[in-house]
Amino acid sequence: MDKEKIKKAVTDLLEAIGEDVNRPGIKRTPERIADLYEELLSGTMEEAGRIIQETHELEHDGMILLKDIPFYSMCEHHLLPFFGKCHIAYIPDENKILGLSKITQVVDILSKQLQVQERLTTQIVNTIMKNLKPKGVGLVMEARHLCLEMRGANRSDPYTVTSYVEGLFRKDLKTREEFMKLIK
Ligand SMILES: [Zn+2]
Repeated sequence: MDKEKIKKAVTDLLEAIGEDVNRPGIKRTPERIADLYEELLSGTMEEAGRIIQETHELEHDGMILLKDIPFYSMCEHHLLPFFGKCHIAYIPDENKILGLSKITQVVDILSKQLQVQERLTTQIVNTIMKNLKPKGVGLVMEARHLCLEMRGANRSDPYTVTSYVEGLFRKDLKTREEFMKLIK
């Protein structure tokens, strides 16, 4: 990430908005934004895939579900946050289980990119499918988008819900129904 370029771009942006870039309150804003973007937009698919390489063995044939995992991401259309919670379930194959914190880490890493909610949803599922190779994965994501809410849209029912399923969750209606019932 080219932080010097970000600093210059933010200075230009502030000037374009009509701000005095030497005003004490915003003098360091370009630097702050450069640091912030480096921190918030550093996630890569490779890094998320690596996290999943460490599995452990445990005999478990059923569904493993994590509910209410918080996430924070940045909308690529407006550079404003969207955030909420997600519910992820998978059915292990050959007893390969992920530590619970690994799933949370995968969500964190993939959220740290310029995203749209739909793509984030499929990326999380595909990363787990590809690297863990479970029998199936299901994901439901509920998010609030500040680019909608701050402009007055979506205030009464602010949650945008997306879902994506693979493997058994796609092929087997009973599995999908069990997942949907558990997250209610
Ligand atoms: Zn947006």
